[in-house]
Amino acid sequence: MEINLKGMKLSAGQGQLFHSEIPGNNEILKPLGKEFGKPIFIDIRLEIEDQRIKAFGTISTEVVLNCSRCLEPFVYDINANFAVGMIDISLQEEQDLWQDELVFIKDGIADFSALIYDIILTQVPMAPLCSINCKGLCPICGIDLNSSSCQCQQDNIDPRWEKLRHLT
Ligand SMILES: [Zn+2]
Ligand SMILES: [Zn+2]
Repeated sequence: MEINLKGMKLSAGQGQLFHSEIPGNNEILKPLGKEFGKPIFIDIRLEIEDQRIKAFGTISTEVVLNCSRCLEPFVYDINANFAVGMIDISLQEEQDLWQDELVFIKDGIADFSALIYDIILTQVPMAPLCSINCKGLCPICGIDLNSSSCQCQQDNIDPRWEKLRHLT
């Protein structure tokens, strides 16, 4: 997502709002074996703060993940906020002076895409669960215990209890 700052008049105390919807780039999620379930919705408010331009944004989208227990795909909501400083690329050297994360302005245009994808990637869990109650797969027969059941657990009683079993 790009914001063109050419000719834009920003004054202190008066924010400028931008809204954008971009199709999620599945190439970025591919290494994780995931894909976007809907476009990425982005709202950004530009403000002047201490004579610098700051961007406050919200990102929301959905990614399709595979549950790490039952392996079924499920939709995972991503909602994140960010606050970044913006400086012209020519002032890159001075970036140490800045506390915030930065988006550079090149020829009057600020490109937020890299920042947005970075944030989304940090939100994708490494071991996602379709539900905290997911029962997962039976370790013996591999059946999905959320939708079916099997006899494996009963038949595999710890041998130390085997004697007790005969008592019943
Ligand atoms: Zn699951
Ligand atoms: Zn089983």
